[in-house]
Amino acid sequence: MLIAYRNPRREWGRLQLVGAAMAAGFLALGAELWRKQVAHGAQYRDSLARQSIRRIRQPALRGRIYDRRGEPLADNRPSYDLALYLEELRRPGRWSNTLARVESTLAEVERRIGVPRGISPDDLRNHVRRRLPLPLIAWRDLDAGALARWAEQASGLPGVELHAQPARVYPAGAAAAHVVGYVGRAEVAADPEEPFDFDLPEIAGRAGIERRYDALLRGEPGGRLVRVDASGFRHADLGGRPPRPGDDLMLTLDLRIQRAVERIFTGKSGAAVVLDARNGEVLALFSAPAFDPNELVPSIAPERWRALSEHPEHPLFNRATGGAYPPGSTFKPIVALAAQRAGVSPRTTFVCGGAIELGGHTFNCWERAGHGPLALTDALRTSCNVYFYRVALQVGPEPILRAAAELGLGRRSGVDLDAESPGFLPSEAWKRRTLRESWRDGDTCNLAIGQGALNVTPLQMAVVAAALANGGRAVQPRLLRATRSYGAAEFELARPEPARDLGWPAAALAPIREGMREAVMAENGTGRRARAAGVEAAGKTGTAEFGPREARRKRGWMIAFAPYDAPRYAIALVVDDALSGGLTAAPLVKEVLEALFAPPGEGARG
Ligand SMILES: [Zn+2]
Repeated sequence: MLIAYRNPRREWGRLQLVGAAMAAGFLALGAELWRKQVAHGAQYRDSLARQSIRRIRQPALRGRIYDRRGEPLADNRPSYDLALYLEELRRPGRWSNTLARVESTLAEVERRIGVPRGISPDDLRNHVRRRLPLPLIAWRDLDAGALARWAEQASGLPGVELHAQPARVYPAGAAAAHVVGYVGRAEVAADPEEPFDFDLPEIAGRAGIERRYDALLRGEPGGRLVRVDASGFRHADLGGRPPRPGDDLMLTLDLRIQRAVERIFTGKSGAAVVLDARNGEVLALFSAPAFDPNELVPSIAPERWRALSEHPEHPLFNRATGGAYPPGSTFKPIVALAAQRAGVSPRTTFVCGGAIELGGHTFNCWERAGHGPLALTDALRTSCNVYFYRVALQVGPEPILRAAAELGLGRRSGVDLDAESPGFLPSEAWKRRTLRESWRDGDTCNLAIGQGALNVTPLQMAVVAAALANGGRAVQPRLLRATRSYGAAEFELARPEPARDLGWPAAALAPIREGMREAVMAENGTGRRARAAGVEAAGKTGTAEFGPREARRKRGWMIAFAPYDAPRYAIALVVDDALSGGLTAAPLVKEVLEALFAPPGEGARG
């Protein structure tokens, strides 16, 4: 056609149109065939065998995961693989003829691209026996050099083709590892309604958000029909039903805060949680040491896995939700609340002489010289143990344990992550049942300073900090902020669970908040090292021993909220091998506050 010479571009457009129409017709045909074959699966199964049509399950593209500002946390990148098409390498006569051709092709590609094949003789045998109509992936994830050599020297080889497949990648690396989690090879369950003869490799969430929201992320698999010949080689593609890609997720997490917390924990073991104190959105949740989830996909070398799982500091373990530890003195605000509800005035003073004697045992204050007479606010500022022994002995353990339970201690918070620990709240009944001993005053003293059998997670303490910040509402911590289904332009906000009003009297909360403010802002406050320039914050430090007694290792705690007048952030932080909460945890909380209140463009906030 003359016009083709005068305007090749237009002609190309026309050809494309024709091509598209043909493809659409083919797709419609395929879909119809698919409907007939699959919708009436059982009825057609017998005839299917005779027709030599095989169904192949095709996984959908996995949804992506973003932080609250749209930074990618889990994404898909193309993995360039080389596949062999055995039907094109087929040789007449004995099987060994075809296998020899396959072997020589593999060797030829190896020679030209300079990369050894990624399959063993067993893989080849299994493929021939069980997956003959499918392409055989013989090289995975070629690098740029190998791809270039392929294009220049090997792309003309018959029976070999380049395939792009999606591979999971975690752009934030270790920073968000314990939240986002990772994927692994999926076990595809057989579906009697929709039987498949073959399935293509599919991935499933193994930990974190990837696991929790696997059903949303995974989408709907599609299927292809191929006709095979009498020997089982692929003869023709008959089309099918396309997969439906998974939903994209937007988390409440702020990657900039998360990265700041990661930096703060360099070389340390511990965890930190930052919540929006108003609504329970998890802005940061970090456990140290962390791991790089990119090492685990698509699979991890066994020796590397052993190194990670046998590491003495357990990098795969999420301390923020799974680590249950005695809270130490960060528990004292709860004791203070319970005491006031039981009728103790915040103005009542107790005298600290450095220790109390109880049934032949000495219960010390951390200040051996004694604090002298103290009211509630002073006792919180200085973290005096004797004040809290006295007040707890006066009201008894029941009101304290009730207040702790109302705040969510002793049960899972229900955050949308896996592997959450409920922690542990002891009780008189528990002690009788398991230790066959009655509850003693010494147990009450231990409880008063957050020691003994009591165990809490950093996440639970962040919820406690949020309730102290927001005027007594227990927020539901959550990570899923919004979802976007395939084809939708906008994210749709997830519906948060409303916070529970705990019905605390404002008069009881005020002196506790004031004591926590002084703990950070006053010169003799135990949390003064958490003070960040320009930020009025409130907090409570804590220290608890862990590990073998003779090792005398200490865990430092701090809970905090800020700004004091209109609290927006609630923080819980724990760090192993601390000198104390005030000396080791508080300076780390200061750095978290600096990240949270950094001017736009200088780090955390924008
Ligand atoms: Zn004291």
